[in-house]
Amino acid sequence: MGNLSQKNSQPFSYPLKRAFVEPDWRRLPGYKDVSSSEWESALWQRQHSVKNLKELKNALGAYLTDDLALEIECDQKEYATMSMLIPPQMLNTINEKDLRHDPVRRYMIPMISDRHSEWPNHPKAGRDSLHESEMWAVEGLTHRYPTKVLAELISTCPQYCGHCTRMDLVGNSVPQVQKRKFELLPQKRFDLMLDYLRKTPAVRDVVVSGGDIANVPIAQLEAFVSSLMDIPNIRDIRLASKGLQGLPQHFLQDEVLRAFERLAKKARERGVDIALHTHANNAAQVTPLVAKAAKKILELGFRDVRNQGVILRGVNATPQDLLELCFTLLDHAKIMPYYFYVCDMIPNSEHWRVSIDEAQRLQHDIMGYLPGFATPRIVCDVPLVGKRWVHQVDAYDREKGISYWTKNYRTSIEKNDPDALTRRYEYYDPVYTLSAAGQDYWKKQSVTA
Ligand code: SF4
Repeated sequence: MGNLSQKNSQPFSYPLKRAFVEPDWRRLPGYKDVSSSEWESALWQRQHSVKNLKELKNALGAYLTDDLALEIECDQKEYATMSMLIPPQMLNTINEKDLRHDPVRRYMIPMISDRHSEWPNHPKAGRDSLHESEMWAVEGLTHRYPTKVLAELISTCPQYCGHCTRMDLVGNSVPQVQKRKFELLPQKRFDLMLDYLRKTPAVRDVVVSGGDIANVPIAQLEAFVSSLMDIPNIRDIRLASKGLQGLPQHFLQDEVLRAFERLAKKARERGVDIALHTHANNAAQVTPLVAKAAKKILELGFRDVRNQGVILRGVNATPQDLLELCFTLLDHAKIMPYYFYVCDMIPNSEHWRVSIDEAQRLQHDIMGYLPGFATPRIVCDVPLVGKRWVHQVDAYDREKGISYWTKNYRTSIEKNDPDALTRRYEYYDPVYTLSAAGQDYWKKQSVTA
């Protein structure tokens, strides 16, 4: 009977079982005396964000055992590409009783045993794996799609994610990575970006990002976005902030809300669409405070709040985890599931990455549950190509784990490249997901490299 009912049951069942409540921070030793007003203060959250192992120990007390602390320390010395920075709000979404297996801990506070012991790094992985800085039209403005640009306003965030794609530029230097720095002062960069957009009418869509716009002083952010709206060709503006779920308190501050309200009003008057894009990877991180901030932004007149998550093994790489996250976003926070990216080929990210084959199966397995408009597309950001839906692969050598992709537009660095639109571009599966023959191929490649 047991087998029969298993065979007949839905792979995913709705309604959700997880209670939608703000976890009580007072259960954590470091926050046991923290009042609600302190907790809901963005300043308090920033001042108490955890920046090192000692502060992590102060927050978690005995829950952070010596062996876990040692593993985190070893990881920071040998593999981590991002320094530690985690606001109390985000730490509070971790299951302190099972730190080793907790999904949020796994991507925000990596430890050495998380990494793959034989293949921690893919031979083809690299810093700035998407070649964004090569496509800077001016410093910090990546122009790699015909009608869209990415404006990196700042190189810091309220939190640092272990798998950050922009590990080349974002955050503090760590033993493994000396970070690149912007050379120009912020205002100079912003002015150059605006000048470029004024003289480039083919661009209609600007992703205003970083880092994280939650770290841009609100007056500077408002001035920049308002100037974008004065450029007739700019029709879509998307503000990118993981801080919406790492530090929702930031977006509930009066001065931020007032600035967003003015921007929404101006957008409406100019016929421009303004939206906020966030980055939640697990349902546990979508709490009532996150929902409150997202709903406020919608009430002010933003067209949408959307989520672009990253598929990370051990964090969310199952249909159940992805669907639970999407339904939590939709039902409780009015956040639209939009994309899930496969984790980019940055150094030491192998244990998080899934193969294209796995990503295709995930896309298959999440179809049909969510409304079509809220069913996220699973995409691979193919170096020198851009985002491709994982089923768009042109050819796929499953043995070696090499997928081949094509493109239908030129980026700024291909103006004089006659083969840009006929070439096939490669992407690589994690080696440990391959057959023995495929793994042998990469072992030989590593020896000859
Ligand atoms: S918030 Fe975004 S930019 Fe900042 S560390 Fe995380 S992934 Fe990187």
